[in-house]
Amino acid sequence: MKKREFLKNSAILTIGALSVPGLLQACNNKTAAVISEKDIKTAPPVPNIYQLPALEYAFNALEPHIDALTMEIHHGKHHAAYVNNLNKALEGHEWANIDLVEIFNKLMPDDKNAAIRNNGGGHYNHSLFWRTLGPNAGGSPQGRLLESINKSFGSFETFKNQFVDAATKVFGSGWAWLCVDGVGNLFIGSTANQDNPLMRNLVKNYGTPIFGLDVWEHAYYLKYQNRRKDYLMAIFNVVRWDIVAEELDKANR
Ligand code: MN
Repeated sequence: MKKREFLKNSAILTIGALSVPGLLQACNNKTAAVISEKDIKTAPPVPNIYQLPALEYAFNALEPHIDALTMEIHHGKHHAAYVNNLNKALEGHEWANIDLVEIFNKLMPDDKNAAIRNNGGGHYNHSLFWRTLGPNAGGSPQGRLLESINKSFGSFETFKNQFVDAATKVFGSGWAWLCVDGVGNLFIGSTANQDNPLMRNLVKNYGTPIFGLDVWEHAYYLKYQNRRKDYLMAIFNVVRWDIVAEELDKANR
């Protein structure tokens, strides 16, 4: 790269990275010196660039419940495509620099922002899904999460049955959800395609998802083919209820 190009590119990166004016002084180099604080204040808002989150476990870590090839394609191809297509759909869009959850609030039941709806939902839903799965997991929730489940559903077993039932009944592609409403009660929901319960103008029951289960065929077909129910039961061996409990705490804050 020529020196001039390098300086230009680093200047752009510097504007993008600075959020606190004081950091400017800390950048004790020639490149930073050409940007004044005024430049930063008048610079247009920096668009969000979404990135595929790294999996915190190996593709084969959820075997035998979810096979390695499914994980590799699901994360590396399907989720990656949602991220790329979301970034493309937001290029030059008025929502380019607002938070994804804020975008969900603004979506209306029309096809105007279909690409943002499908790919934004796809990115959010899968990011939550990967986080709540892991090896050496499963079992029962503990502590406050278990108390909330008992309060809302009677018992963990009842919750599990109702959740599997909701996931079984999703026609075609979609998600089953465990959500928390505005007053801290848990409820089960389901959505089609990549919609989620944060899309308040699109769903019957609005809430914050703390666990989502992907029932698209791409999530299970290689191993389970048409046996969705077997996949649903197997998933309970790899759910990290400690992470779901963290999501509940975040939602209640
Ligand atoms: Mn998926």
